[in-house]
Amino acid sequence: MFRWSRPRGHTAPIGAVNLMAAINPNRFSDLMAQQAAIGATPEGGLNRPTSSDDELRVRRWFADRAHEAGLTLRTDGAGNQSAILMSDDPAAKTLLIGSHLDSVPNGGRFDGALGVIVGLEILLALQESGTPLPFHVEVVNFTDEEGTLRGLLGSAAMTGRLTAADLTAVRGGADGLQAGLTRLGLSIDSVLAAKRDFSSVMGYLEVHIEQGTRLERAGLNIGVVTGIVGVRSYWLTFTGEAAHAGTMPMADRHDALWGASNLIQDARALVMREYHPGVVNFGSIRAEPGAFNIIPAQIRLGLEFRHGDAAILEAMQTALFALIHQNAEKYGLSVTIDPAGLVSPAPMAESMVALIEQAATDCALSHTRLMSFAGHDAQSLANVTPSVMFFVPSVNGISHNPAEYTSPEDCLHAAEVMLRAVLQLADG
Ligand SMILES: [Zn+2]
Repeated sequence: MFRWSRPRGHTAPIGAVNLMAAINPNRFSDLMAQQAAIGATPEGGLNRPTSSDDELRVRRWFADRAHEAGLTLRTDGAGNQSAILMSDDPAAKTLLIGSHLDSVPNGGRFDGALGVIVGLEILLALQESGTPLPFHVEVVNFTDEEGTLRGLLGSAAMTGRLTAADLTAVRGGADGLQAGLTRLGLSIDSVLAAKRDFSSVMGYLEVHIEQGTRLERAGLNIGVVTGIVGVRSYWLTFTGEAAHAGTMPMADRHDALWGASNLIQDARALVMREYHPGVVNFGSIRAEPGAFNIIPAQIRLGLEFRHGDAAILEAMQTALFALIHQNAEKYGLSVTIDPAGLVSPAPMAESMVALIEQAATDCALSHTRLMSFAGHDAQSLANVTPSVMFFVPSVNGISHNPAEYTSPEDCLHAAEVMLRAVLQLADG
């Protein structure tokens, strides 16, 4: 459970104007505990899928915290909630900090929530210190990052990367999307109209739990994300010939599963040998006709592969497609390849990566650069404004699970590094 036992005042004097602000560990831990209580499950996790009763409750909680602190609160047509600490200069640009308060069904207390709560604590710390800000700081709770309705719904809408067509084929189904939007007081029209003008936005920062084991294994505090991987998925259909599983001689068979299974092994070896840290997965397989005594005539295989570099992702595709055709030929099969999804890699801005590295160094925290293999709101924002995200360790890499856990110390590190980065930007 939560043990927020590290009372530690941390001040961060910086730059010529001696900008000062400090994370309040007790206030921060209270905010984390309060959000974790909304939709809490008996197993110690969270159940806050977008538009569920508890997700609506956590939205009201976020709005109440903003009002209580005298922050400006805005909600756009996609339901993205913003709490804003305004600069004295009305013509100032805006720095965005964000993540999401929705969860997967029966998820954990840190995925997304940490980033939003860190943002709120930053606003309160800056406000309390009276630090003169040359920009507005806006903390965003993005709608439906996790994909109850569509996935990255709010961030994609805000950045204008959502079309009416994108909303007709969604993973939750068109009816589910419509019902969810209605519960949120939104409509497809309002979502499509949520596109924002980014000319007044100076950048985007996000902190998130790693959801993997790289930091924990390396004993490091902070992972600075250099890019979010691109994902390509395809349906492969291998077609051979059904025959009697007993009477057809082995040498004469056109067994579709032989080609498909050999491909899976070949692809694993290829990606590990030549495309590290890229990944490949065959997560769905169906054999037809599907009987003990019939040689499989057709195999439908779901292929997905990821890499953070667009050129390498393209090269992976070329190499994987060559393997597909080689295996079809080797086993006397035909094969078709049908696209099933495409997400482009999202490189983070080098200037912002360097900013976070410097902030971590200034906080005396160890850090490394790494790639994100999961999707995040930052991949939407990276298209329109200089963006970066960074990770803090996940115990045992567990996530999307009630056992998801990040220590109070690591959560505090997230807030300290974020504050330091904001102060560095303020110092110019
Ligand atoms: Zn998340």
